[in-house]
Amino acid sequence: MKHRDGDALLNDADAPPAAIQSVALSKGENVDDATPILVSACLAGQPCRYDGKATPHPVVLRLLEQGCAVPVCPEVLGGLNTPRECVELRAGRALCRSGRDVTDEFLRGAQASLERAHAAGCRRAVLKSRSPSCGTGRVYDGSFCGTLVPGDGIFAALLKRHGFSLCTEDDLPCEGTDTGLASKP
Ligand code: SF4
Repeated sequence: MKHRDGDALLNDADAPPAAIQSVALSKGENVDDATPILVSACLAGQPCRYDGKATPHPVVLRLLEQGCAVPVCPEVLGGLNTPRECVELRAGRALCRSGRDVTDEFLRGAQASLERAHAAGCRRAVLKSRSPSCGTGRVYDGSFCGTLVPGDGIFAALLKRHGFSLCTEDDLPCEGTDTGLASKP
């Protein structure tokens, strides 16, 4: 089954190179279009998560090897250290578990990441799911109890406002499979 965002990308008749890129990405094939894809740096193997770890995804790693990926970590670009406190969104603010408000850092990093994306010519992104910055479609509810609610991370929301097409690693096939885009629960 194709993801609804994937359908939109594949039907984007005004941008055939982007559609070709999307098909290739969804099938784990080589991307032969020159338009770079913005990716969450942790998916590209950078240990920039709050816990100091990476979450590499094989498709994103291959994009990187092919020179098609532009990795960014908005939280690091916003000046936050790694490792750092876990953050969730509540009432439009980015709050650490301790209660420290890091909204300004999140906004600063999102803006800096957007500028990098524009400078590189990116128009679409593969982002880390559920992150308070990069999460797309679902994020944690601010209770630190593992409860997901509909919504976007601060960086993902900014990218959407600027017309980027977004998906997360949950939408990508596993390396070596031919399943196409997965449907999001
Ligand atoms: S802000 Fe985004 S890129 Fe950085 S660690 Fe979190 S999910 Fe990954």
